[in-house]
This record gives sequence, C-alpha cells and structure tokens, in this order.
Amino acid sequence: MRPARALIDLGALQRNYLLARQLGGGKAVAVVKADAYGHGAVRCAQALAPMADAFGVACIEEALELREAGIDNPILLLEGFLEADELPLIDAHGLWTVVASPWQLTALTDYTPRTPLTVWLKLDSGMHRLGLSPAQFGEALQALSRDPKIASVTAMSHLARADELDSDFSATQHAVFEAATRDFDGPTSFNNSPALLGWPGIRSDWVRPGLMLYGASPFPLDAPIPHVLSPVMQLESRLIAVRDLPAGEAVGYGARFTAPAPMRIGVVAMGYADGYPQLAPNGTPVLVDGQPTRTVGRVSMDMLTVDITALAKADVGSRVVLWGSRPSATEVAHICQTSPYALLCGLKRVACLYRDPESVG
Ligand SMILES: *Cc1c(COP(=O)(O)O)cnc(C)c1O
Repeated sequence: MRPARALIDLGALQRNYLLARQLGGGKAVAVVKADAYGHGAVRCAQALAPMADAFGVACIEEALELREAGIDNPILLLEGFLEADELPLIDAHGLWTVVASPWQLTALTDYTPRTPLTVWLKLDSGMHRLGLSPAQFGEALQALSRDPKIASVTAMSHLARADELDSDFSATQHAVFEAATRDFDGPTSFNNSPALLGWPGIRSDWVRPGLMLYGASPFPLDAPIPHVLSPVMQLESRLIAVRDLPAGEAVGYGARFTAPAPMRIGVVAMGYADGYPQLAPNGTPVLVDGQPTRTVGRVSMDMLTVDITALAKADVGSRVVLWGSRPSATEVAHICQTSPYALLCGLKRVACLYRDPESVG
C-alpha cells in the first residue's frame, strides 16, 4: 500500500477549539468548510460536536454532508444561500444563514419559513467582497430584528488584513463595525483566527476560528505570537528507494539540483498530486527518521527527493514527515510561497488516519 497519509489528532483539534473559545470569551463557530481545511469535515465535526457552539461551512452541500452524518449542532452558511431555492432546505434542516447581499435579503423577505430562521447579517466594513454597505446595513438590521419570520439576528463582519500585525486596517474595520452596530443590542461576530490570536483588543460575542483549529498559525514565522496551538495534521510517507548520486549528476525533472559532492538521495512517495507544493524549492525542510533534512530537485506528481547523505541509517522504508509539529505547515507554506490555508486545503489522494481524543473535554 502507498505509505502517503495524513495523521489527524482529534484531541489537538478539540484543544485548539477550546483555546479559540477561551480567547474569544464568548461562543465560537468551528469553521469546517473546505472539508475542514483538508482534515475531513465529518470526522472533525464529530470530534467537536460535544463542545462546538456551531459549525461554519461555505455552502449548503457542506452543511447537508454534516447533517447526513448525524451532526445536529447549529450550522452556519458563511456565505449564505447561493440560490433562493436553498431556503426550504435551510428551513427543513434548521441551518443558520448569513445574509450578505441585497438579493439575499429580498429572497429572505419573500420566503415564509416553517420555523423562524436564524440569520447573521453581514456588514462590509472594508473588505469589499461580501456584505451590505454601512448605508444598507442599519435599515436591514432593524427590519430583520422586527420580522416575526426571523428567530434571531447576529451582526457580523469579516477582516481583510488581520494577519498583518503592523497594519491599522483591522482597527479601521472594527471602528466601522462598531459604528454600524451602535444601536443594535443583539449578538455580534467579528473575529477569525488571526484576529483571535493577534488582536486581543477586538472582541465580539461570537468568534469564527478556522485555521487555528487545525493548529496552524496565520502569521509570518517571525510574528511575536506565543506558540500555543497544537498541530492537528502530520503529513507523512516513506522512502521507496535510495541511491548514490555522484558529484556533478542531477536529480529529477529539469535537473534542478546537481550534487556538488557525492550524495545519498532518498525517494519519497509524496508528490504534487497529493497536494505537496510543486514549487517547493531545493532545501524545503522534511524529517527522515525524525532527523531534519531537506528536499532536493523538483517535486514530481507522485514522488519527491530528499538529501539523506548525513543520515547513515536512512533506508527504504524510513518514515518521512513533510509537515506536522516540525516542520510546521506554516513554515513549509512560507518557504513554498503559499499560505498554510492553501497548503492544508490542497491535500488530496492521501488517506486521513484519525487518532481519537483520549477524553472529550
Ligand atoms: C473562512 C472564514 C472564517 C475562518 O477564517 P480563519 O482565518 O481560517 O480563521 C471566518 N469567517 C468567515 C466568514 C469565513 O469565511
């Protein structure tokens, strides 16, 4: 069997969720969109179900997958319904929906639900992607709050640059949000992972952690954030071949790496078809048998090559860690000029193996 696999530590996921909720000081939506950032939405939601105040997903398909798996916590559609004919399903499955565009507001107003709906009304506080403008928002907030077809309204907004700790844009967005919700006494929701970890002055009743649940930092590696997250995924594989490379010979497609001296090379069953970045440069860190070393040569579809010259015991079958505690997914992402978000969501073909929590807490 191909040895490429992702070990998923569900206890670490639970610890990160509880940390996010504690940092937020209120309730927390566990964001499990995009198959829980590549970690498997159903298994992750099942592990978090005893403690999660709600789950966040990108679309109704993701919500129904969780309902079919028996998850009965509240589930919030983070972008709302994408077509008006999803409203009966939202109603029937008791989903919560964001309303972020004027057309959604009209469709919602025209619909008569079986049971009053829970709505999160989104303000565009400066990101300029989704959300009602401040001019539209106040009136809509009042109208929905008075509407008997609506069970409750939460005011929300989303931060564009919270991962930039030297930018004042988050404070500007927060001020816009505060002004727009000044006369509203219902619940608010503002914080994503970087806001929870990096902007303790920004508070809201509901927080919406995604990336941090999976133990990955959204910040550049030199950010002054204490290391408090537990990594959830360890991506690993094994050496399937080793070979001696004479000085002056190159390895792999495009001969991108030439041995400056005689070297020993290990071939790992892991490639870009598994989601490992194709553009990983020579020198991207990996562990072989627990020892740090580096990739050499171009990443292929199903394989990559590593330097094992200094690792005398490394041989066919040696275990290789591509990311986990060390090197972290965030470190690998930065070296490969991508983000930890894209790195984790990009995982494919590898089987996820789950380690259950020792106790549900
Ligand atoms: C994806 C998403 C989040 C989670 O963001 P992270 O940076 O992963 O914590 C929060 N809110 C909304 C609206 C989202 O779409």
